[in-house]
Amino acid sequence: MSGHGDALRARFESAFMPNYGVPPVALAKGEGCAVWDVDGKRYLDFIGGIAVSSLGHGHPALVEAVSRQVATLAHTSNLFLHEPEVLLAERLLGLLGEPAKVFLANSGTEANEAALKLAVKYGKARGRSYFVAAEMGFHGRTMGALALTGKPSIRDQFGPFPIDVRFVPYGDADAMKNAVTDDCAAVFLEPAQGEAGVVPPPEGYFRAAREICSATGALLVADEIQSAIGRTGHWFAHQAEGVVPDVLTLAKGLGGGMPIGACVGFGEAGTIFEKGDHGSTFGGNPVSCAAALAVLDTIERDGLLEHVRTVGRQLSEGIAAIEHPLLKGVRGRGLWLAAVLTSDRSAGVQAAAQEAGFLVNALQPDAVRLAPPLVISSSEVRSLLDAFPGILEAVNG
Ligand SMILES: *Cc1c(COP(=O)(O)O)cnc(C)c1O
Repeated sequence: MSGHGDALRARFESAFMPNYGVPPVALAKGEGCAVWDVDGKRYLDFIGGIAVSSLGHGHPALVEAVSRQVATLAHTSNLFLHEPEVLLAERLLGLLGEPAKVFLANSGTEANEAALKLAVKYGKARGRSYFVAAEMGFHGRTMGALALTGKPSIRDQFGPFPIDVRFVPYGDADAMKNAVTDDCAAVFLEPAQGEAGVVPPPEGYFRAAREICSATGALLVADEIQSAIGRTGHWFAHQAEGVVPDVLTLAKGLGGGMPIGACVGFGEAGTIFEKGDHGSTFGGNPVSCAAALAVLDTIERDGLLEHVRTVGRQLSEGIAAIEHPLLKGVRGRGLWLAAVLTSDRSAGVQAAAQEAGFLVNALQPDAVRLAPPLVISSSEVRSLLDAFPGILEAVNG
């Protein structure tokens, strides 16, 4: 980066709290799966704003829906209802195919706060006092969601927390069985751990969690904030497991870049909140709802679930076929993958990819996340695969 980008980075550093550090690239615009920085360098976007920009950048359906809605009615608060939120809730319920009720929020962590409050209320009525979550799991940064987050480096300094959470090793059904008793209010679980490095559990783990929760009466909360809305080639990852959770949380890819989150309660879990129990001024904002409807319509109309499976396989098999001493393999499914390294060089890979014109994410010291827009083309995937050996070589060299 040079010129304008460097100047902006310096101004960013003096104006902002240092919690994000100073990001390496200042982006100016995007089109499809390409983005440009403020100095005019073009990149192919293989991270999509952290699995958010499902339709890529500037998608006509998203632009049209958002422009029209912001010009018609941008905000109502929850004192009034509006048609886009009703359409969106109905649409989600149709895709879920089970009796359920929806609450709309603005982000992932807020969707989980809603799930948590609902589970606290459920637990209080039944003398169930603690929660179970997975080590290294990620559920958000606000105090409730953070309490459920199993990564000590981002959690520990902010305790004590308002809820008692017991952590179990992810993927170990026996450990979960031991941890979940009749006193447990809810289990919060990702279908595959996103922030921990796109780590899928052993086959059958999610179904085992469902059985354990059903047997004890604890609520199973599926955190699908990263995994849903086509990311794995299915609308929802839990559907691929043949499991229905009690509560489901959504955000990231749902709005295609507009902020929105959702908390869905299935069956009785949809009736726990009563009038006045929860709320949000911006939650279910008309513009974000219009964006989400455009995302869902486009995924359906353009057959993107099938497309994600096809190009996801191409990307995953293509990475797996590369032989390089720095590359150990690839994990994940659909367009939700991590290239796993043989040593802690992910920051170097991210920098070398950036130099070569690709945005990827150094997710863990040894894992590079690839979560491009769902609309990425086979030839765009091919161009990353062609460049990848050289990118790895540039790190080694
Ligand atoms: C990103 C993420 C969250 C938090 O979402 P925010 O919108 O950043 O608050 C929670 N859970 C999972 C699984 C996530 O990937």
